[in-house]
Amino acid sequence: MNSSDQFPLIVSVEALIVSLPRDTPYLGPLGEGEKVNSSGYVVRLGNRAIYPTRDTSVLIKITAEDGTVGWGETYGIIAPEAVMHIVQDVIGPVLVGRDPRDVTVIQEDLYDLMRIRGFFGGFYVDAIAGVDIGLWDLAGKLLKQPVVKLLGGQRQTKLPAYVSGLPGAALKDRVDLALKFKSEGYRAFKFHSVVSFDGIVKEMAALREALGTDVDLMVDLHWKFTAHEAIQLIDQLAPYRPLFVEAPCAPEDIEGQALVAQQARIPIALGEELRTVFEYRPRFEKRAMSIVQPEMGHTGISQFMQIGRMAHAFHMKMMPHASIGMGIYQAASLHAAAALPNVPMHEYQHSVLDRNLTYMKTTMTCTSGFFEMPQGHGLGIEPDPSLWQFLRN
Ligand code: MG
Repeated sequence: MNSSDQFPLIVSVEALIVSLPRDTPYLGPLGEGEKVNSSGYVVRLGNRAIYPTRDTSVLIKITAEDGTVGWGETYGIIAPEAVMHIVQDVIGPVLVGRDPRDVTVIQEDLYDLMRIRGFFGGFYVDAIAGVDIGLWDLAGKLLKQPVVKLLGGQRQTKLPAYVSGLPGAALKDRVDLALKFKSEGYRAFKFHSVVSFDGIVKEMAALREALGTDVDLMVDLHWKFTAHEAIQLIDQLAPYRPLFVEAPCAPEDIEGQALVAQQARIPIALGEELRTVFEYRPRFEKRAMSIVQPEMGHTGISQFMQIGRMAHAFHMKMMPHASIGMGIYQAASLHAAAALPNVPMHEYQHSVLDRNLTYMKTTMTCTSGFFEMPQGHGLGIEPDPSLWQFLRN
């Protein structure tokens, strides 16, 4: 394990929870009958899923013998203490003394620790993902290279961004928001069916009419439908020529996903809830989608790359998911996307990213329809000291 060339080894791994208040909840104002509970969460009645009303995230700080720090981040929007505890109790002590250049090997070793107990996903793999991102950042800094250069090479420095979610109380507000983004240079828009209070087909029609034919439109169906309901709905959406339809039916229903993908006239995208290539594998085999959407906060860089390469082997595209975070896993997602041959576009969480990047040190931006890759060694993003006013643990 130790290196003959005296490469700095890992001396500590910490997990830090940050939680930033929001004026408007993610996905937009609360609908009728939706209320915030004592943990600050709200159950969206449109898909019966729980969402936070703050931007909460788990940052991972990995320190090497020479004092160099790598920063990771994982998905901590609900129950972040679960992930923090796994990092501090299980993963951190195992990593002390390891060589940060062995990052993919370490990711596989961490996965093996708990597989006999059935932890193939969930909070355990989220914790691994955050550590994996932090290790890539640390390795890049110590090797004085951007992470993308360690992933096999860099295809681009900027990547088209699609606007995700059009939060607004009324349909007109949502259309107006899309028009504002179009005037700024954005050319692709996805709306969320959970808050399509006027109806999904009506919202798609209104957006197409207002935005014209020179933009791409997408809709996230949020796992709401049975396979045949989804096929019927997609038939109704088809005249408006969406670029893709996302998450039509329940994640457990792989046969249903495959049926939709075979029968729909519109490409199907899915995968934000999946964490490893093992979870994706049956969906590749059954061709249950045309586009994969891994979420870096769930996968980490090592698994994200495997999923992207497998998608390429199946001649599928990747349009990565973007969640609520401080920007570290967004940066990681851009590095990995830039190293893959099949990523034409990346999701842009405008209501989250812009605000939270004010508390980070990075050159990464999303403006005029494009993400600009962060510059510098490692991932090119670190917390600014101003972020620690929101530290929760
Ligand atoms: Mg989604």
